[in-house]
Amino acid sequence: MIAKVIIFVLIIAIIYFFILPKFRSKKPSGEEQSFVECSKCDTFVELKDSTLRNGKYICKECLK
Ligand SMILES: [Zn+2]
Repeated sequence: MIAKVIIFVLIIAIIYFFILPKFRSKKPSGEEQSFVECSKCDTFVELKDSTLRNGKYICKECLK
């Protein structure tokens, strides 16, 4: 009976230490948003909403 309890505790420990951290680290790494300054209107826009032109970032509004 004691051996069964030890195995049970070991299984819980394995689940706790090996499986749970994988779920915790599942968060998308691209969560942090990076902002860049538009060289024309000096507004900070998200990097994905900006365009790199001649080494300078330009926002969507200034591209129009
Ligand atoms: Zn702009």
